[in-house]
Amino acid sequence: MKHIVKLCWRVTSILLMGLTALGSARGADFSDSFTYPMNPYVEGHRYFDEWTDAFGGKYHAAQDCQGRGGDPIYAVANGVVSYSYGEGGEWAMYGYVMTIDHQLLDGSGVYSLYGHLSTRRWKKLEGEMAHKGELIGYLGDDDEDGSLSEWGPHLHFGIRMGKKSDYYDFLVGYYTDHPAFHGWIDPGGFIENNLRSAGFPDLIGEWNSLIQTCKTTSGRTRCKIQGTLNIQNRGDQKSPSFEVGFYLSENEELDDEDTFLSKATIGSIKAGGNKAKKWSYSLPVGDHATGKYVIAVIDEKYVVAESNRSNNLAVYGPLP
Ligand SMILES: [Zn+2]
Repeated sequence: MKHIVKLCWRVTSILLMGLTALGSARGADFSDSFTYPMNPYVEGHRYFDEWTDAFGGKYHAAQDCQGRGGDPIYAVANGVVSYSYGEGGEWAMYGYVMTIDHQLLDGSGVYSLYGHLSTRRWKKLEGEMAHKGELIGYLGDDDEDGSLSEWGPHLHFGIRMGKKSDYYDFLVGYYTDHPAFHGWIDPGGFIENNLRSAGFPDLIGEWNSLIQTCKTTSGRTRCKIQGTLNIQNRGDQKSPSFEVGFYLSENEELDDEDTFLSKATIGSIKAGGNKAKKWSYSLPVGDHATGKYVIAVIDEKYVVAESNRSNNLAVYGPLP
């Protein structure tokens, strides 16, 4: 069962996706499409962002995929092996761990992480190129995969924004706060959205209008905020359905102090298309939003693999 969290947001994590590499040229080594790391790809055991009482209460940052010791593991896209070490490397309890840095067409990137690999069998080494679907190693047996043996052989498969060297923390598997705060995204969803796509969707939101109206009856004041949020897909691929979260903030930035108001589901938007979402929210009696900001977070659950995530906040304010 997946645990749904109230989303907070860290702007630093989304900025990673918006950087454009200067002088980069399109070439064969860009990761323009993705595939699954195992065949068959069977999600199980522990899901992405699943909360567990284990380890003092933490979220799982990757997707576990069931398999047998010796099953082949494939690169999910073109890239460069940025880490390839066994126990005693940066990460304990994951057996042999490999990461591959993938450069996306807009110059930003993601890296894929493969944990609980076989130490004894052949594997790719750090610095080597990997191509989409190419063999990179094998799933570890119980006695070499680093995890508790009763879990059985499984791949701990993660996708994280940026590249491996962007992060100085050694954590791979579990976090006390939501893994999205640390750049991890739903790996199965990411692959599914990028199986055949040559490019990416790019969602951007803009408030057309936003007003507050207040009414006082029998000494009680009731205020309502309403407006229209226009969401565009500026990318060259259709976006799947996603959620938008609405927050009330004291300033133009979204942080843990902000108040979650509501969320809405937006259907698929074709490349170059847009959708206008009418939105309203009634504040508790006596409250008002004067001087505050409304922030819409486009795709707050990170289900859309976008070419640019730095433009996913639509801020309006201060409200008069
Ligand atoms: Zn795992």
